[in-house]
Amino acid sequence: MKRIYLDNNATTRLHPDVLEEMLPYLGDNCGNPSSVHWFGQETRRSIDLARGRVANFIGASSDEIVFTSGGTEADNQALIGIADVLGKPGSRIITTAIEHQAVLNSCRYLEKKGIRITSIPVDSGGRIDLSALADSIDDDVILISVMLANNEVGTIQPIREAAELAKSHQILFHTDAVQAAGKIPIDVGQLGVDLLSLSGHKFHGPKGCGALFVRSGITGPVLIHGGHHERRRRAGTENVPAIAGFGRACSLAARSLQNSSLLVGSLRDRLEKGILERVSGVKINGCREDRLPNTLNVSFERVNGQFLAINLDLLGIAVSTGSACQSDTHDPSYVLSAMGCSEAEATGCIRFSLSMYNTEEEIDLAIDALPALVERLRR
Ligand code: PLP
Repeated sequence: MKRIYLDNNATTRLHPDVLEEMLPYLGDNCGNPSSVHWFGQETRRSIDLARGRVANFIGASSDEIVFTSGGTEADNQALIGIADVLGKPGSRIITTAIEHQAVLNSCRYLEKKGIRITSIPVDSGGRIDLSALADSIDDDVILISVMLANNEVGTIQPIREAAELAKSHQILFHTDAVQAAGKIPIDVGQLGVDLLSLSGHKFHGPKGCGALFVRSGITGPVLIHGGHHERRRRAGTENVPAIAGFGRACSLAARSLQNSSLLVGSLRDRLEKGILERVSGVKINGCREDRLPNTLNVSFERVNGQFLAINLDLLGIAVSTGSACQSDTHDPSYVLSAMGCSEAEATGCIRFSLSMYNTEEEIDLAIDALPALVERLRR
């Protein structure tokens, strides 16, 4: 059976050049980057190279990049670390209802420690309401965290405007750019953000490696305490192979971004058009004007998304109903619920997420599979 992978917002295939970059550090180049001998200096060199590549990818400088174990840790470090430095009883963090659980559950954790959390609403396309954000700012706010692009529906947020608002009140601004990276250009200067989370495995890098951008001049934030690694911002011997691979993934993504997003966008549009033409009772979720080029979220009337995903898998087509971190629950998508979708729409959705490795033939096979399958499930 030909297997078709359309779940690239969950994770992506490693780019062959990334694997090549990693291999020496899984073999003979075994030094600890903190060691002064040749072996240590060889791995230190690869980390320095990777740090420069990550920085370049987002328009930062090298000393503003802190390597982490991925997007979840970067989000935790941004929120919990900043609350550690700036939080007082009564302090407040503003975020949105559609953030990834890495942000939402960091907020829940902080709530138990006395930090108040305000969740601003989103519209039916999943875009934040900037005036609601402005209205919720007061002197108690220490941090605003709004994701750059949503992982379930792909909606891109007006981060520049939101960050400007934060800046005008001297409030730090964090954005979770985990799903946006490698799909749309990111420049921390243009966005005006103070903290930004990245994860390598979402754009053909290795799993278990990411970074937090921390604008220079900001104290902390620290989540993992120990040795003096990462300029005392993240203790622990560095995951050298993964960091080397992550760096390479960043430079590859920077180089191919324009072409790959055009290619992936045309495949996504082909899929969307095919579904709209061939399947009745469907609704496209997300902001169609401001959406990641690779993401398509569709609600199928009178169909359970989980059943549809399982049946597509039996035909060799891998999709998901939403975030991979939520796949153990049968609850309706909290993202779609926050966007005002009905319970039926939020349980009847499928997320198709594409990458540059997909082909027109694969998209056509997915389109061909859907009408009969949806009909059968509806019956
Ligand atoms: N933030 C967003 C928006 C995500 O989509 C994900 C992963 O799905 C994460 C954070 C967590 O990243 P990681 O898997 O690297 O921990």
